[in-house]
Amino acid sequence: MDPQEKLKPDCTSCAALCCVVFAFDKSESFGIDKDACEVCPNLDATDRCSIFDKREDLGFRGCVSYDCHGAGQRVTNEVFKGIGWRQDPALKEQMGSALSVLRRIHEMLLLLDSAKTFPLHDRELLELETLRSILDPETAWTEKALEEFPMLATNKRVSDFLRSLQHHVTARPTART
Ligand code: SF4
Repeated sequence: MDPQEKLKPDCTSCAALCCVVFAFDKSESFGIDKDACEVCPNLDATDRCSIFDKREDLGFRGCVSYDCHGAGQRVTNEVFKGIGWRQDPALKEQMGSALSVLRRIHEMLLLLDSAKTFPLHDRELLELETLRSILDPETAWTEKALEEFPMLATNKRVSDFLRSLQHHVTARPTART
């Protein structure tokens, strides 16, 4: 699959994880209080939002702005092989944990991909591809691999790398006035 496509949400291939695994507090972003792993009452039996086009009007602005960056469908199909919480409600918590980790991984991949717009040197390109291969390995993600993923260390390495590219920003010519 195109690496960019992996980072785009595809709700039609997801078990509606964001409508189930997260807790909401009633606020200007969400119309109701909902516990983690409680199914949103607006989710229909086919895993579609029954108020999709009216979410903002009905007080669910938070749902409109949420973006899983493609992690939802990947957790559903790659990590859990299409067997979801509908078949086994006990999986909700595990799927939620996997989604939280994989979404952060996808956020880092998006940051790395945005760095590709710079004229990177060979050494920088090598580090970028190394980091990409850690975040998007050729083998499928599993629950165990996500549980054991060294998030703090990898996040720091990505942050340090992105910071090291600052010279490309300052080197960009500015428009004359
Ligand atoms: S309102 Fe719709 S999009 Fe938001 S959590 Fe509920 S079912 Fe999902």
